[in-house]
Amino acid sequence: MIQTEGITKSFGSLQVLKGIDLTIGEGEIVAIVGPSGAGKTTLLQIIGTLDAPDSGKLYINGTETVRLSEEKLAAFRNRNIGFVFQFHQLLPTVAEKRAKEILDFMNLTDRMSHKPNELSGGEKQRVAVARALINNPSVILADEPSGSLDTKNKEELHKLFFDLRSQIHQTFVIVTHDEQLATDTDRVIHIKDGTVQQLKGES
Ligand code: ADP
Ligand code: MG
Repeated sequence: MIQTEGITKSFGSLQVLKGIDLTIGEGEIVAIVGPSGAGKTTLLQIIGTLDAPDSGKLYINGTETVRLSEEKLAAFRNRNIGFVFQFHQLLPTVAEKRAKEILDFMNLTDRMSHKPNELSGGEKQRVAVARALINNPSVILADEPSGSLDTKNKEELHKLFFDLRSQIHQTFVIVTHDEQLATDTDRVIHIKDGTVQQLKGES
């Protein structure tokens, strides 16, 4: 589904990613963990085609995205990738019909007419997930999605990820500091010193 080969990225003289090779399968929930500043957000932005690598390859559903023109890339991104960020900026209006179906699925229908500032933090993040689902994306990329939530809302959001996986086979790549979430995912990718760390016991 997603494959990266030798992705590198520098900002000035700082080489953040030094050759990242990853394969993420359809329906997988993968956690990306690592120290602050390790390049997790940078990698997620590159996988999400929001930022370009300096070198290396990225395939999403068989498409080599770095070869696409700006315009084609934007269309590809809209069709294939959903994003959920930590402090989500919700749009005041969302694409209505699909949004209703999704909000229904998440028991958020009665919040349909609420403005973002009338929602709790937990509701905001669930709406952010709903918005990410609107175009039926191949993958949802989430950057510390539960970082600002209390335990109850955090657990609810994490449960939502796993419910979506079991019900619609949704693929997720989640950058997280949350140990429980990392433990619950299918696979944890450790990023350190610009590379994917192999842990003891992994082949
Ligand atoms: P993480 O998400 O793992 O905390 P980031 O990917 O945000 O790490 O950042 C990795 C490193 O790259 C940090 O040292 C950060 O300061 C630097 N960095 C990230 N984005 C930029 C940018 N646009 N310009 C310059 N430096 C950046
Ligand atoms: Mg980050």
